Amino acid sequence: MSSTQQTILLIEDELPIRRFLRTSLIGNGYHLVEAVTGREGVQMTASVRPDCIILDLGLPDMDGLEVVRALRGWIQTPIIVLTARGQEQDKIALLDAGTDDYLTKPFSVGELLARIRAALRHSSQVRPELRDLPFQVGQLRVDLAMRQVFIGDDEVHLTPIEYRLLSILVRHAGKVVTQHQLLREVWGPEYADAVHYVRVYMQHLRHKLEADPARPAYFITEPGVGYRLRID
Ligand code: CA
Repeated sequence: MSSTQQTILLIEDELPIRRFLRTSLIGNGYHLVEAVTGREGVQMTASVRPDCIILDLGLPDMDGLEVVRALRGWIQTPIIVLTARGQEQDKIALLDAGTDDYLTKPFSVGELLARIRAALRHSSQVRPELRDLPFQVGQLRVDLAMRQVFIGDDEVHLTPIEYRLLSILVRHAGKVVTQHQLLREVWGPEYADAVHYVRVYMQHLRHKLEADPARPAYFITEPGVGYRLRID
């Protein structure tokens, strides 16, 4: 195992899914450890200190939300949750409890690897030397240090609220950000239920930054949950 290899803890009781993920994750250069119950997952987090945790919601002994709360009390490790379709309310509760992201089954390996990269990148961004690098995806470039936004070579002027909204999405690039989180961070806690604000200002951002605002390539809607800024 090389010194740069990152360790992923997979907490999942179903053997076929563990087998499928094991092949993909090891094949992509990650060191993998596995737990089959929530309790075992919490214990292994303490002993192994993984770089990222993939947590299945349907475990035999503990509710996924309980596992997240048990872990979030003492670790900052990114947690990606695997959910079943139609659990939107659960997803919001999980994200608010400190989950970093979620994937709805069935998902592709490519999707999972992209989420893992986003989660690991996000946790590395607490390192000051990485914090000021401009964000780039496709034609969109955002320089948070200079407070400048470009499409190709053209600088785009945003209002202060549009810029704040964009900068939060950039700081969480590749990960879903809930509507409530955006409202809290852009407008303040007293606006936590004004979800139409987010919708209106996301439209503004798309009109200024997307080639086709009706078919956004950068600002992806996660139905019923929030928004995700795409990464390459
Ligand atoms: Ca399961």
